[in-house]
Amino acid sequence: MKNYTLPPLPYSYKALEPHISEKTMTLHHTKHHQAYVNGANAALEKLEKARRGEAQIDTRAVLRDFSFNYDGNVLHSIFWPNMAPTGKGGGAPGGKLADAINRDFGGFDKFKAQFTDAAKTVEGVGWALLLHDPLTESLVLTQIEKQNLMHLGGAAILLGLDVWEHAYLYDVGPDRPKYIENWWNVVNWSDVDSRLGKVAK
Ligand code: MN
Repeated sequence: MKNYTLPPLPYSYKALEPHISEKTMTLHHTKHHQAYVNGANAALEKLEKARRGEAQIDTRAVLRDFSFNYDGNVLHSIFWPNMAPTGKGGGAPGGKLADAINRDFGGFDKFKAQFTDAAKTVEGVGWALLLHDPLTESLVLTQIEKQNLMHLGGAAILLGLDVWEHAYLYDVGPDRPKYIENWWNVVNWSDVDSRLGKVAK
């Protein structure tokens, strides 16, 4: 089994002072981010033990745990290099990013105001994010409540199964297991394989 590891910060713990303290950065990176890395690894280990018949698990709970911790790892791994040491960051973007922000948000100030609003209004704990939407080749804002996307954010989806009732109610009534059993007969493995080929190194 491959393990996740904590990526090092691209600068020292005190590099963002006085804006973010050495203490905050140290705790955030070595305790919180590390806990997500450990949590993702622990969840994978539980799943592996269950497959070997060495443990009984609540699969739903373990997968929820895995998603929460995986996403925590992914989001923080982007968060750190999203920041630069004091004096080297801040201001406004240039280049292609500036052009895209102008195009999609009507200017940097408008983007900054709306991103700020997004961050402020996340319900409970969470994230504000700027994303590149490949469907429209444009920039979009989103919020994450907590950090549990319940899918692996940033990871390419290779195979999906819709288990909303709209996907099977007319065929098998409320018998989702039957639907799933049927579905295995129609999986396009060559498509799944070609998706993997596009993203695997
Ligand atoms: Mn955090």
